[in-house]
Amino acid sequence: MTPISRRSFVLGGLAAAGAAAVPAYSSVVNATAAVPYPFQLGVASGEPDASSVVLWTRLAPSPLNADGQGGMANTNVVVDWQVSTDDRFTTLVASGSVTATYAAAHSVHVVAGGLSPDADYYYRFRAQGHLSPVGRTRTAPAPGTNGRDLVMAFTSCSHYEEGYFTVYRRMAEDNPGVILHLGDYIYEYGATSGRPRLHAGTSEIVSLADYRRRYAQYKSDPDLQAAHAAAPWIVVPDDHEVENNVAGNVRADSTPALTAAQWTARRTAAYKAYYENMPLRPAQAPGGASIPLYRRLPWGKLASFHMLDTRQYRNDQACGDGWKVCSDADLASRSLPGNAQETWLLNNLAQRTATWDVIGQQVFFARRFNSTGASMDSWDGYRASRARIQQGWVDRGVRNPLVLTGDVHRAWASNLVADYNNPASAVIGQELVTSSVSSGGDGDGATTIPDVGTNPWLKFYNNRRGYVRTTFSPTQLRADFRAVAKVSEHGAAATTVKSFVVEEGRPGLQTV
Ligand code: FE
Ligand code: CA
Repeated sequence: MTPISRRSFVLGGLAAAGAAAVPAYSSVVNATAAVPYPFQLGVASGEPDASSVVLWTRLAPSPLNADGQGGMANTNVVVDWQVSTDDRFTTLVASGSVTATYAAAHSVHVVAGGLSPDADYYYRFRAQGHLSPVGRTRTAPAPGTNGRDLVMAFTSCSHYEEGYFTVYRRMAEDNPGVILHLGDYIYEYGATSGRPRLHAGTSEIVSLADYRRRYAQYKSDPDLQAAHAAAPWIVVPDDHEVENNVAGNVRADSTPALTAAQWTARRTAAYKAYYENMPLRPAQAPGGASIPLYRRLPWGKLASFHMLDTRQYRNDQACGDGWKVCSDADLASRSLPGNAQETWLLNNLAQRTATWDVIGQQVFFARRFNSTGASMDSWDGYRASRARIQQGWVDRGVRNPLVLTGDVHRAWASNLVADYNNPASAVIGQELVTSSVSSGGDGDGATTIPDVGTNPWLKFYNNRRGYVRTTFSPTQLRADFRAVAKVSEHGAAATTVKSFVVEEGRPGLQTV
């Protein structure tokens, strides 16, 4: 099947929204179903390995109900699922049934196993006499094999109120093999008028019902549903899945006022809702007010995805947050990933099982000093930690490290150098920073690199909303920075504003 027909099928399946256009499941007649359509949040898949993938959906016939339960009654519902090699579901390779519970907001996480490596699959669900939209997913190559070249698209920061999710639609249309989301999938703020769209709920979200409804509102967006249906996702949260600029378990905001117990309850609610709404494996289920998210996903011999959590484990806030001047000595004891995750990452990198070691994380990695100092919310606030990681990959002979970043609502690209006090020191890797899906609004299109005089390793800047489309082969990495001119209106075209390549074994961004 050509990529174009595959794409039309997936998007067409969404448009059909489980109506009779989707064949098989022959006992089902949607038109006569007795209950309203429960698949209004779409479908998703994620966490691919060489033999399995997570399939996700959440039943919610009335997504915006204030109780967060999406219009579902307090009863269990059986959800059937199917995986097929073809988009008509004539050849099933896996199928089964799971129970969607009220306690989990009728979300389901199916680990569909027994799949072939480096293969494309289609999946769908059935519940209450209705069929879900159809999603496409893919498995990783077997260990030690390259498989096909991989198109991986990544983005972050989708503020529903600040713009339409056209970027998600354009990502889906690229027909990627996998999508990474680097956080700020939702924002916690209450409704603010005068913007392109409006959050449901007037106050900042705090309770489990609030977070569940917020995810349901975002997931009702057809462009977001298209991106989930197009490819398996690998996700990590940033701050806004809980609250702005949370560092460790310390609040940066003082509103709304919360007691210590209320803050713990809020984190517990935020992480429960995050897990319920993301295609994560059961190993990532939260335990109370924390959630185990840093993890490695091998992609055969081609790539390893080391997904970091740069929020929960910040272990020292000496010097505070914001943009300011802090000395290396003041920051010496601060670790961004925390000591355990830092050790875990370096042990992972030492394995060198793949050509490209991709570090998927949230906040700006390369040094970026300006006249007011540096952002203490980025790796500049944790310089010793950054230096240990960079020197760690050099010492371990990692040939092709690549850092991926979100958070800053602008596109950037940077070389990573061995010593930021010596701009002439060796280039030892690259950082690609995605712009946002919608956060920040349309943007001014500026391309002049801020403060490049004092940060000469910075190679690209663009202030439009967008994503990065990467293509991995055994010999080369290509990165296309994609941008849309507007998110204040729906449906803008995406254009490539800059492309770089990196040759295997030769760190450094090369302009195409
Ligand atoms: Fe953001
Ligand atoms: Ca953020």
